[in-house]
Amino acid sequence: MSTSQSRIQALRSLVNDESQLGTGRVDFAEPEEHRALRAAVAGIAAKFGPRYYAERAAARRPCAELWQALGNAGFIGVNIPEEYGGGGGGLTELALVCEEIAAAGTPLLLLLVSAAISAEMIADFGTDEQRGTWLPGLASGAVKVVFAITEPDAGSNTLRISTTASRVKGAGDVGGDWVLNGTKYYISGVDEAQALLVVARTGQDERGGQLSLFIVPSDAPGLDKHLLPVDLLLPERQFTLHFDGVRVGPDALVGEEGKGFRQVFHGLNPERITGAALGVGIARYALGAAARYAAERKVWAEPIGAHQGVAHPLAKAKIETELAALMIRQAAWQHDHGQPAGESSNMAKYAAAEAAIAAVDAAIQAHGGNGLASEYGLIPYWGLARLLRIAPVNREMILNYVAQHSLGLPRSY
Ligand SMILES: Cc1cc2nc3c(=O)[nH]c(=O)nc-3n(C[C@H](O)[C@H](O)[C@H](O)COP(=O)(O)OP(=O)(O)OC[C@H]3O[C@@H](n4cnc5c(N)ncnc54)[C@H](O)[C@@H]3O)c2cc1C
Repeated sequence: MSTSQSRIQALRSLVNDESQLGTGRVDFAEPEEHRALRAAVAGIAAKFGPRYYAERAAARRPCAELWQALGNAGFIGVNIPEEYGGGGGGLTELALVCEEIAAAGTPLLLLLVSAAISAEMIADFGTDEQRGTWLPGLASGAVKVVFAITEPDAGSNTLRISTTASRVKGAGDVGGDWVLNGTKYYISGVDEAQALLVVARTGQDERGGQLSLFIVPSDAPGLDKHLLPVDLLLPERQFTLHFDGVRVGPDALVGEEGKGFRQVFHGLNPERITGAALGVGIARYALGAAARYAAERKVWAEPIGAHQGVAHPLAKAKIETELAALMIRQAAWQHDHGQPAGESSNMAKYAAAEAAIAAVDAAIQAHGGNGLASEYGLIPYWGLARLLRIAPVNREMILNYVAQHSLGLPRSY
């Protein structure tokens, strides 16, 4: 056997090693169940379609009917354990749901917070009672739990948050209630939600705040909600929240007191993966619309798509979209197999946001003046794609992560 042949054989045995991969093989063919899931989700979303989405976005009204239709079909809770009424799948399946609804022109931002972060954190760190209380409603789509971490003076620096949760002394050894004080902003979908998963400071160590997670009912006394208008065309609305002595019971604490930072970072990977999936879906939608338009529109002898100035930016965005989709599969697979998924989730989110921006921008350009017309409905997706470069984590913080953790460069901040 030649050296190169033995090298190839060694590689084959590595990729086929059960212990390396869990599944026993690297298989890029999409399983039948995933193709069926994609088709079923796309079928439901197509009944609503881009016109419905654009109207709701312009009116700032939630896509409640689409959410419920997906919930009734079992797709909102596809990642929630079966014993709580969910689909028993993982992030891989939830990412497919996010991608397909976006590819049909109906992206739903709250899947990233309610289904990805909140459901995953309650399932992974919640008590049996919290799981029993919240997961069935989250699985059916009847309940939404939104996520509140961002603060005016903390932003990307989570350890600097100043919202506090202080324990009121309970009777005897029993822990008492918690009282929350502070301000959060840019919290999406509070008006649609039954509860919020709030990140608050319960102590301090040398790195900064010790964080803990609390489930707070959205109608809790002392919780003030103010609409925070944004110029994006989005059905979901954003809020500034003031917690003024909001009192919750001892059972509101999710997971361990002071271990919120580790828990939050575990929960942020699902948000990044589903955010990335939304980006890939938006890119697919925009590229589809642009390809159809550019193949038909004629202002010279040939359709405009024959001009490389039109075709190449679309082709480039298509390549970026497919690459992002591959990285999402890796990140979701790692998360679902309990492997570290921070690097791949960050890379997937970065790649998908950039692909979505490139795709929507090229689609708008290919449409000329029509790219800005309400009739062609591209601008709402441009806003959402642009948002994905900033949130849930901004592009620069991802580059910081990759520079430091993947390349071993000194921390820059
Ligand atoms: C429409 C919308 C919906 C949102 N929904 C939610 C939600 O539901 N829940 C929630 O908790 N939050 C939500 N957010 C907040 C979002 O997660 C934050 O806006 C985002 O994390 C960035 O934080 P920031 O806005 O405070 O930016 P800042 O932290 O102020 O950063 C501003 C910019 O500075 C740069 N920057 C910052 N730090 C560094 C650094 N160390 N190195 C290099 N560059 C840096 C980046 O370019 C960044 O974009 C939402 C935001 C928007 C706009």
